[in-house]
Amino acid sequence: MPIDGMTIGFYVGVLVALWILYYSIAGFRGPRLRYAAVAEGPRCQGCGYILYEGGGENCPECGERIVSDRRILERPAPPTPPVAMALGIAVVLFPVVVAVGYPVAAALDQVWRGETGWWIKTSEGFIIISATVEGRGANRRTDGIELHVQKPSGMRDFWVDPTYRRIWLPKSGPVAINRAGILHARGIELSGANAYEIAEADEVVRDIDLMINNQWNDSYFGWDRKGRYLLDPDDRYGPFFWLPSYAGACVPVWLIVSVVFGWRLFRRYRRRMMAHREKWMSAAS
Ligand SMILES: [Zn+2]
Repeated sequence: MPIDGMTIGFYVGVLVALWILYYSIAGFRGPRLRYAAVAEGPRCQGCGYILYEGGGENCPECGERIVSDRRILERPAPPTPPVAMALGIAVVLFPVVVAVGYPVAAALDQVWRGETGWWIKTSEGFIIISATVEGRGANRRTDGIELHVQKPSGMRDFWVDPTYRRIWLPKSGPVAINRAGILHARGIELSGANAYEIAEADEVVRDIDLMINNQWNDSYFGWDRKGRYLLDPDDRYGPFFWLPSYAGACVPVWLIVSVVFGWRLFRRYRRRMMAHREKWMSAAS
C-alpha cells in the first residue's frame, strides 16, 4: 500500500490540532486554580506552598492571604469533555478499519477495481492502451478501454466501445477495431501504410480483442493499482489518501465503531462530571 508523506502529514496534523483542541477545551472549563490542590492539601495561589491543615489566615511561605473557603482551593479541575479524544479515535480508526478489512476484501474478488496500461512503440512515439476493470483474477471484467495515440502534434485519446467493437474518433465518428480502423485513428490510410504500421495496428487489434474477452495478463495488475487516490496525484498536490477500492464498504463499519467508542467516552465523562458536581459543587455556599 503506498503511504505517501502528504497523507502521513495529514494524520499527524489532525492529531496535533485535536491535541491543541483538548487543551483549549480544558482551559475554558471554568476558573482554574493557578496551583491545583495535591493529596497533602490545597496550595497557596501566590507561591504554590502546600497549606497543611490548621494553618493561619496567611501563607507561611509568602504571606499571601489564603482564600477563606478552603474548599475552593481544594477543588480539582472539572473533567474535560472528551470531544478531541473522540475525534482523534475516529481519525485513527479509519486507516485501521480499512487495514483490518483487507483480508475480508481479499476473499471477495468483485469488490476490487483496477486499471492498467501498456504501450506499443511506433515510429511516431507510443500507442498506449489503458483499461479499467472490475474484480480480479478469474472474475476480472473489462469496464472501459481507452486508446492514446502519440503523434508529432501531441497525444490523441479515443474511447473504445467494448460492446460494439468500435473506437470513437472525435471527427469521423466510430470506426471498427481492425487494421484499417486503427490505422485511420493514427491518420494513416491502409493503402499507404508501411509494414511496421500494419504490424502495429494488428498488435493493437489483438490486445483490444483480448481485453474485450477478459483475457488479462495478471502481471499488469500490481497491488498498488487496486485502489485510488482520494485526490488524484498531480504535479501540484501530489498523491493524497490512497484508498483500496473496497474502502467505501468500510465506511459504515468505521462510523459504527467510532460512535461506539465516542459514546463510551462521553458516558464515562458524564459519570465523572456527576461525581465532580456532587463532591465539589452541590455543598458549596
Ligand atoms: Zn504562599
